[in-house]
Amino acid sequence: MISEPEKLILGKMIETGALQEGHFALSSGLHSGNYLQCARFLMYPGNAYIAGSLLGEMIAPLKPALVVSPAMGGVIIGHEVARYLDVPFIFFEREKGEMKLRRFPEPGSLPYVIVEDVVTTGRSTIEVREAMNSLSEGEFLGAGCIADRSGGGNRIGEGLISLIRLDLPNYPPEECPYCREGIPLKEPGSRKISS
Ligand SMILES: [Zn+2]
Repeated sequence: MISEPEKLILGKMIETGALQEGHFALSSGLHSGNYLQCARFLMYPGNAYIAGSLLGEMIAPLKPALVVSPAMGGVIIGHEVARYLDVPFIFFEREKGEMKLRRFPEPGSLPYVIVEDVVTTGRSTIEVREAMNSLSEGEFLGAGCIADRSGGGNRIGEGLISLIRLDLPNYPPEECPYCREGIPLKEPGSRKISS
């Protein structure tokens, strides 16, 4: 069963070209029957507002006093969730491969959640959590995202709160069922902006 919020978000992802079906060559070199680029969904502030409100509502029972995100992916949605919860928002950014808090004061002891746009392996969220551990006395309450495409295989575990769950398998080209069927291969990113 798919919930109403899930239906709404999925519909808007398809409408904006954030989620496409076909046969795609991903930047990793793998092939997929789907393309997911959450930025295309979030480029419409109304969508960011809706997603932030829905995710904020799901996160609210944890009672965080701070929202923390990894840049770039988490910045827009993390900020929207923080707006909904009426708490401050900070983000970590990668510097020489390490997650750094470059622009904000140290977070003190505020209990916090980590918010991302898409969770695939959960790596960014885990890295932010580790970086927070060394800077903050605050309790980690949980993690949220717009789309969980990990198929349960992420390192965050069962506690991950997501608006939608997507099962989007990737294949090495030699094992790709779409190649086998002779479906033309597309590079993602060839859609015009819809008004
Ligand atoms: Zn293929």
